[in-house]
Amino acid sequence: MPEPDSPESTIELTITVPVYNERENVPILHQRIVAALEPLQRSWELILVDDGSSDGSAAVLDEIAARDSRVTVLHLRRNYGQTAALMAGLDHARGQILVPMDADLQNDPKDIPKLLEKLDEGFDVVSGWRKVRHDHPIRRNMTSRLANALISRVSGVHLHDYGCSLKAYRREVLAGVKLYGEMHRFVPIYASWNGARVTELPVEHHPRIHGESKYGLERVVKVILDLIVVKFLYRYANKPIYLFGGFGLLSMAGSVGAGLWALWLKFFAQTSLIQTPLPLLAIFLAVTGVVSILMGLLAEMLNRTYHESQAKSVYQVGRLVRSADSA
Ligand code: UDP
Ligand code: MG
Repeated sequence: MPEPDSPESTIELTITVPVYNERENVPILHQRIVAALEPLQRSWELILVDDGSSDGSAAVLDEIAARDSRVTVLHLRRNYGQTAALMAGLDHARGQILVPMDADLQNDPKDIPKLLEKLDEGFDVVSGWRKVRHDHPIRRNMTSRLANALISRVSGVHLHDYGCSLKAYRREVLAGVKLYGEMHRFVPIYASWNGARVTELPVEHHPRIHGESKYGLERVVKVILDLIVVKFLYRYANKPIYLFGGFGLLSMAGSVGAGLWALWLKFFAQTSLIQTPLPLLAIFLAVTGVVSILMGLLAEMLNRTYHESQAKSVYQVGRLVRSADSA
């Protein structure tokens, strides 16, 4: 993700667009972005990230960049996926405000000024909400409604539409954010957890006309797994022993309970130890408990390696105030 400041840059706004086989769409997108942004009188740049397209999109992008000096094109070596392409774009962004969006014309650049207005009201993140959505009713719209409800619940950050690519961020809130898997949709959650003010705004959504969607139903599974990772990292990344060790202790307590119950049955209810599954359960829970605690210790070591080998800090400074003569 971008450095918190890029003092040498005076660009106000960076639009980043991941492009994977969108030959017909990109020239129209470029025109519409220009039309939407020119009246704003703000300086902007457009970063088009070619995510290993094989349909000739690469040449189309180069041609746009040759005609318009505000356009930067990044060619990835192969297809890395939407999240990685987005990361690449953000890493190269110079603007103070960062706006990711899709290349397929489903997002509408006309919404960008509205997002900016919302940022001006004092928010750090404005997330698009495709209130009227033009995608497949079951494969997309219904699963996405369920997924959004689940993500809101688990993360405690309540948005209607995490999956909408069109969002606007102040540069600072993305500093240090790293994205893996399908995690671009969770950026507002990271930001909110780090103190950013997050809001949402209804945006247009058009049906896809050229090219085809790159995703199927398998994305739901990936998103749920990513959600578990995000939640785990947030709650326990710096104290994994609490999760693993907590589970381990619980398991051992269960083991003692099952053992005592088995003994009670033997001495007071004349049930032999081989007539109940309880002794087996006690052994199983004891082993699980020990292994889980050991895994927690391992995770603690990994955590130290992670932070210390890369000089990573366990906190982020928002602002530092120090009087000039204390130096
Ligand atoms: N995309 C990409 N790499 C991929 C898949 C998709 O850069 O491997 C881009 C794609 O070109 C589009 C955006 O990500 O700009 C969203 O993809 P798509 O429209 O297929 O997703 P959907 O709208 O169906 O969720
Ligand atoms: Mg799309």
